[in-house]
Amino acid sequence: MMSKQVRTRFAPSPTGFLHLGGLRSALYTWLFARKEKGVFMLRIEDTDQQRLVEGATEAIYRSLRLAGLDWDEGPDVGGDYGPYIQSQRRDMYAPYAWELVEKGEAYVCFCTKERLDAARAEAEARGETYKYDKHCLSLSKEEVKARIAAGESYVIRQNVPTEGTSSFDDVLFGHIEVENSTLDDTVLLKADGLPTYNFANVVDDHTMGITHVLRGSEYLSSTPKYNLLYKAFGWDIPVYVHMPPVMATPTRKLSKRYGDPTFEDLLSKGYLADAVVNYIALLGWNPGDEREMFTLPELVEAFSLEHINKAPAVFDMQKLTWFNAEYIRAMPAERFHELIRPYFAQVIDVEKMDTLRLAQLMQTRCEVLPDVVDKIDFLAQLPDYDIALYTNKRQKTNPENSFAMLTALLPLVESIDPWTEEAISSKISGYIQSQGLKNGPVLWPLRIAVSGKESTPGGFYEIAYLLGRDETLRRLRLSMEKLHSALAK
Ligand code: GLU
Repeated sequence: MMSKQVRTRFAPSPTGFLHLGGLRSALYTWLFARKEKGVFMLRIEDTDQQRLVEGATEAIYRSLRLAGLDWDEGPDVGGDYGPYIQSQRRDMYAPYAWELVEKGEAYVCFCTKERLDAARAEAEARGETYKYDKHCLSLSKEEVKARIAAGESYVIRQNVPTEGTSSFDDVLFGHIEVENSTLDDTVLLKADGLPTYNFANVVDDHTMGITHVLRGSEYLSSTPKYNLLYKAFGWDIPVYVHMPPVMATPTRKLSKRYGDPTFEDLLSKGYLADAVVNYIALLGWNPGDEREMFTLPELVEAFSLEHINKAPAVFDMQKLTWFNAEYIRAMPAERFHELIRPYFAQVIDVEKMDTLRLAQLMQTRCEVLPDVVDKIDFLAQLPDYDIALYTNKRQKTNPENSFAMLTALLPLVESIDPWTEEAISSKISGYIQSQGLKNGPVLWPLRIAVSGKESTPGGFYEIAYLLGRDETLRRLRLSMEKLHSALAK
């Protein structure tokens, strides 16, 4: 039997930047669509105009593209099922609501806000969860017609059965069943003629031919009601896959409100999109083996819904940082150079330094790109360091012998020509050998003298090369003066 082509959608509400939970939903949906050679659609759910945030739709496009997720149909790419923005579909929903009224699966309700508020307050006072009391269900067709003709404001409500149960099957959560008596007659069409979020979602999934609904598990509880609508219309029910949330801690969901980072925040903090996507993929899904590093095509290959974990996953910044460092190490040197150069430029004059060489030194020492800023600041300026740095037991150095060593080395350094890393290293290591010395007592003072730091990317040879002859000699002399005046005291 030929099965239908898989059609999936990512249906964000443009209420802000794409947070990591949203990105993960998009990613799993995309992976599933690509794996099944199906369609991945982007639909913007903006029926709740109050919650809209300016620029959020563009931010969603941008984030998805940065993550490498492309869509086959959507607002900006078109497709046969458009428009793909709910507010542009506004006229499509009312006829469906009226179809349900005809079938007795929905009804017109004229209840005023005052009546509903009072009923809600009473229910709360009794300690009960408020449910609409089906007050308007008993109105006759004629009365409804007359009141609408007279210009009375109305909504259309779903007529949920009061007895029995409703159920659906979820790929991850299995069979879910609820008592109908717990369900409320929710509004489908609002007084302004626009659909509510829940109704638009169902009508769109059906009219857009969606076969698989992948979304956050917060929708598990509204799905029985969605299913009643599918049944009322006589539509095929899609396959449901509800995905557990991404948590900030075991008890709190990741959320903007608490300042948890969005995808774009992470990118601006110097995390690489590929690394974030790789990490997010494994946050709640596993390939069934020990592999951890995946490109997007490899993820498509390995992905399966069955390996999504039902338990909520906790976002771990340290683990993400580990992934990022791995990605940095694995990338071609030229690519790393390209990415890191703007960060170098924050500290040093990139026109005057061999930044490719500096990038090589940094590539293994950097977990996120901005790390370099603190690590290379000494290249811009010799810091005002403490001469206690010359004291190193293992290298058998102290300020006194360091001063003597630098005094002996200065003419040697002055004679280096050409100023290449090789020439610097062969001159100094030649000296070490000819004098029968160990590396430490020579290289430690030299490195401290030109960097003023206990730990640096690269040793004296690399740093001297990067600084250039004039600056290296200037720093050596400065440091010798510093030692001299301190020792004279
Ligand atoms: N618009 C919903 C949201 O942003 C998605 C609902 C769904 O995927 O069905 O959470």
